[in-house]
Amino acid sequence: MGNCIFCRIASGEIPSKKVLETEDIVAFHDVSPQAPRHILVIPRRHIEKLADLTGPDAALMGKLLVTATEVARATGMEADGYRLVINNGERAGQSVFHIHIHLLSGRDFQWPPG
Ligand code: 5GP
Ligand code: ZN
Repeated sequence: MGNCIFCRIASGEIPSKKVLETEDIVAFHDVSPQAPRHILVIPRRHIEKLADLTGPDAALMGKLLVTATEVARATGMEADGYRLVINNGERAGQSVFHIHIHLLSGRDFQWPPG
């Protein structure tokens, strides 16, 4: 996926402030943070969006979710609380079509979301 910005971040071709790298997952700071702490957790494998997932993706997506909680713990978010968000499709706010979990913390969040 040559021109996907998150594939290029995962490979290191585009610089980012990484907080964790494993064989199949990368976490890095969002360039335009929507909270005092805002980290993106992505699989290295290019999957466009949540709606494209199928059965065999379950293990990877489970790992992605667990990794997000580990990043939250490692960066001291647990005491404060945090929110995970996955936007699916433009109308839901997705702007980068490589699946990612937003990990947000450090302020109050609205419920229901805006
Ligand atoms: P989405 O709107 O698709 O749910 O989230 C995409 C996120 O990626 C946005 O919060 C945006 O700020 C972030 N983003 C877009 N381009 C870059 C980039 O080049 N580097 C980093 N670190 N974050 C990016
Ligand atoms: Zn990609």
